[in-house]
Amino acid sequence: NTVKYLVTGGAGFIGATVATMLMEAGHEVVVIDDCSRNSQRFVPAGAKLVRKRVHEVADVLDSSFDGVLHFAGLIAAGESVEFPERFWDNNAVGTLVLLETMRKSGVRKLVFSSSAGVYGNPESVPITEDAATNPVNAYSYTKLSCDMAIASEAVAHGLAAASLRYFNVAGAYRDKQGTWRGENHEPETHLIPIALEVAAGKRDKLAIFGDDYPTPDGTCVRDYIHVADLAQAHLLALDHVEAGEHRVYNLGSGTGYSNAQIAQAVARITGREIPVVYTDRRPGDPAELVASSQRAKSELGWKPTRDSLEQMVGDAWAYYQHTQA
Ligand code: UDP
Repeated sequence: NTVKYLVTGGAGFIGATVATMLMEAGHEVVVIDDCSRNSQRFVPAGAKLVRKRVHEVADVLDSSFDGVLHFAGLIAAGESVEFPERFWDNNAVGTLVLLETMRKSGVRKLVFSSSAGVYGNPESVPITEDAATNPVNAYSYTKLSCDMAIASEAVAHGLAAASLRYFNVAGAYRDKQGTWRGENHEPETHLIPIALEVAAGKRDKLAIFGDDYPTPDGTCVRDYIHVADLAQAHLLALDHVEAGEHRVYNLGSGTGYSNAQIAQAVARITGREIPVVYTDRRPGDPAELVASSQRAKSELGWKPTRDSLEQMVGDAWAYYQHTQA
């Protein structure tokens, strides 16, 4: 009997990568995605696509599913400051509808895409799962609210669940058929993809937001995790969740790189020049976010294997060049 999973948001960068790896592990995958922020061509071949919002998940989910991986949601923190109502509806209401539908159909396993954003400006790094949560924008509030709703569902109704709190996801994944999957945000807001556009000559320069942070070189420090390592953690979480429990795992590489270091790494790895200008801080940006992923390593047996900048930037660059070809 094959194991069958529903992947919400399977047209997105992370959802599509996880869906691919689930199928490579021999599982059956159905994707629900309204394709409002990603093209349906990113849904991996072999997965059945149901093009609907997660609010309509009852049209898809039935007792034949073994579990759900929930990625569907809006992700741009800046947009959430301007249009919080979109985030409360898509992320929070969408998750509540999903929980109710899972309960009614008896599907009792969930892995949820949460965010390091729930910790806000941390009091110290590396950040463990016991750190205080303190969201600084509506996006992070909705992720934390979903974590709490899932925890209640587990305790009250026996759901087996995990929330994976991602740090900065990077890289790209070339699947066993040779198809590359990577990041495509429109407009692009993330540091590494923007630096790659500079490397490719599509932009003149990289604007680094702020050089007066209390960090070694004054620019913000982030912890980058390769999308394939991140995806692997989802497969492991599916194997380890227990009925009635909600587990939380921080996922990063445990090494912080400053924005200026990323610019240098992109120049080195692509062999192109990356002219940098320093501009104002971006509102709501914490100075330093670095994960402790000790819990994922010890409880899930997670072992990141692609955690060098060479691998993460190199794969993202390979994907970028592939999409331009
Ligand atoms: N950043 C930057 N210039 C850009 C885009 C991002 O300096 O054009 C900075 C951003 O302020 C943050 C870091 O790069 O300090 C990572 O930002 P990103 O949006 O990639 O991820 P986030 O940490 O917000 O999830």
